[in-house]
Amino acid sequence: MRIIQASYILPLNTAPIKNGYLYIEDDGTVIHVNDVAPITNQFEVEVYEGIVCPGFVNSHCHLELSHMKGLMPTGSGLPKFVSQIPKLRQTSKVDKLKSMKEADQNMYKSGIVAVGDISNTTESLSIKKNSAMRYHSFVELFGLDKNKAEDLLREGLKTVEEYRSFNLSACLVPHAPYSLSPQLLEKIYSNSDDQLLTIHYQETASEKELFLDSKGDLAELFIAKGLDLSSQLKSGLNSAQYALLPYLAKKQKLLLVHNTFSDRTDIEEIETYFSQAYWCTCPKANWYIEKQLPNYNLWREKNLKITIGTDSLASNNSLCVLEEIKMIQKNFPHISTNELLIWACKNGAEFFNYDKLGSFKSGFKPGVLLIENVIGLQLTEKSRVTVLV
Ligand SMILES: [Zn+2]
Repeated sequence: MRIIQASYILPLNTAPIKNGYLYIEDDGTVIHVNDVAPITNQFEVEVYEGIVCPGFVNSHCHLELSHMKGLMPTGSGLPKFVSQIPKLRQTSKVDKLKSMKEADQNMYKSGIVAVGDISNTTESLSIKKNSAMRYHSFVELFGLDKNKAEDLLREGLKTVEEYRSFNLSACLVPHAPYSLSPQLLEKIYSNSDDQLLTIHYQETASEKELFLDSKGDLAELFIAKGLDLSSQLKSGLNSAQYALLPYLAKKQKLLLVHNTFSDRTDIEEIETYFSQAYWCTCPKANWYIEKQLPNYNLWREKNLKITIGTDSLASNNSLCVLEEIKMIQKNFPHISTNELLIWACKNGAEFFNYDKLGSFKSGFKPGVLLIENVIGLQLTEKSRVTVLV
């Protein structure tokens, strides 16, 4: 058994405990948490200054893009950003594997215990198979040409099967509302019964413009590529009405990623329809690409189930959940560290159905992290994380 004492223990299933004690088995299973000193001196108490919390769940990542660190300009806006990705994807297999391995190890060292990873290929399979973290691969499809929907689906299902044959969980997902034909959307959803779903959502203002009147940067990008938008995107519908509502059951578990430009009406439309919508935020990537953060005050007012993602090294300088929540608290200082950690640990675990992660509930095995350089319960620029268990 280990006994960990810290200035603050944040179990996340209950309120923070000042000068608390965390009792765990040697294998990391939580026995209990309280503020009572042990009665025997049979075990040495490990004493830490700072916040002790469960391991992080990174609910949105693209391990495949790890070799693109520092290659993309910042502040260019999403349409320009996505148009450069295919070109930059091409590099040697060795370099890609090396970058992915490094990214995987750095995520683990920064306290991440589970990752929801967008995968267009099986390139990351060997890394995931040997990782200390748990991965769920979202095999992502896109394509506005309805004639290619059948082939894309076949390829996607093959990729999913390959992950599953190595005992790695995987499922098919759409990329974003603007990048799939109705035919491809329909095929993905009819092959995703009882599966988790995720989609990049309202990450750029031009997504909304595109749906509103086929204008804006995204529309121009598609037109430049020779795509006939009018025959693909049904005008008059918004992102939800085009890509989600006509196809999905109300109880579908859905992780909407980014939502930077989702306004009150957008949020209400989703929340009214879906009973299990989760809202993932990747603030550092939003800042990198669009120089914009979501309106978290509105998200909190609406009681959204929020999770945290790092996105990829194409749009971030690190894959570190602590850095993401530091960024949020710096801009929204009234949001407590306890609440941010619920987003970063508990809500992510709940979305992915990881029933032993996300909090210090007795019997859970969520990992144990120490966040140092804090002032009371407030994070600072210098806050850093180490893995205790
Ligand atoms: Zn992404």
